[in-house]
Amino acid sequence: MPKLLTLEDFDRRGGSVTANLVRRTWPEHYLDYRAPEGVAEAPAAYAEVNHGRWIVHCPMENCAGAQMASRHERRFFCTSCLHQDAEGARWRWLRVVWPSTAAVLRIEKALGHRRAQNRNWTTAESDRLLLAENAAFLGDEHLEALFV
Ligand SMILES: [Zn+2]
Repeated sequence: MPKLLTLEDFDRRGGSVTANLVRRTWPEHYLDYRAPEGVAEAPAAYAEVNHGRWIVHCPMENCAGAQMASRHERRFFCTSCLHQDAEGARWRWLRVVWPSTAAVLRIEKALGHRRAQNRNWTTAESDRLLLAENAAFLGDEHLEALFV
């Protein structure tokens, strides 16, 4: 069964994978690099699955930024908006909330049966919905995929 990818699958240079990502995607065309410091109290960002990859969408209003999620470094800094519209979050990392370890295993097991473009999950989707989607995508023989 194919695994869901994380930032660690794309960055094997060593050091901090989240810091490497921010540096690599910094908008140098209009702003000199400035490393984020500290972690904001709020808002939090949430890990979700998009086309077989764990990602984080920027939680800031009016921002469509997203990046690969790190399984081990649960922080996020959006290089699209730089968190400039959120007082208290400017130049700070946001905490990334992942599902529980048990939930991650259930999600990865359920999605692993699907084609890559159908490996999607958001925090709004329950185990029951994943089962229903698996039945729709794969047929009834995979109805029990979450629980076997
Ligand atoms: Zn953003």
